[in-house]
Amino acid sequence: MNLKKYIQDIPDFPKPGVIFKDINPLLANPEATAQAINLLAKGLYGFNATKIVGIESRGFLLGILLAQKMGLGFVPIRKPGKLPGKIEKQTYALEYGDDSIEIQQNSISEGDLVIVHDDVLATGGTAAAACELIEKCGGTVVQCNFLMELGFLEGRKKLENYALHSLLHY
Ligand code: AMP
Repeated sequence: MNLKKYIQDIPDFPKPGVIFKDINPLLANPEATAQAINLLAKGLYGFNATKIVGIESRGFLLGILLAQKMGLGFVPIRKPGKLPGKIEKQTYALEYGDDSIEIQQNSISEGDLVIVHDDVLATGGTAAAACELIEKCGGTVVQCNFLMELGFLEGRKKLENYALHSLLHY
């Protein structure tokens, strides 16, 4: 099964010049979703991971399925102001301005071996900030894991200190 068939290109969304990679057709097809999870999981054995962290919001969708498949707990990283309790916050630069993400302090323990999952690796800023958050909480990032990678944006360069796996390449 060619999984790229289930990724829909939406030109000029959310703003002119961006080609949005829509994973909804993949999610709408149980066989395609199962294949994506099986293939992503294959790349994760051997890391002895203890947790999977998904990045809001599309990183939650396959991230939770992946965590279940691997028998691991799932931890969400969210946009500011969404998580209750004690949080760690990380701010990172965007093309114009900046953005922040948050994690619950007690969701990662000292010694946790963590896989970071998101749907798309673009410039890498979000995933790099997620790695910093996990490290602030005492965890170690063992792999950054993506359904797809937009190679021309060179997000890998921001994540060169980490093992990285993407299933689909554009
Ligand atoms: P970045 O920090 O630039 O790597 O952006 C990653 C985040 O933005 C991910 O959470 C993606 O879901 C989203 N994203 C960036 N570019 C795209 C795109 N072309 N299509 C879909 N999602 C994208």
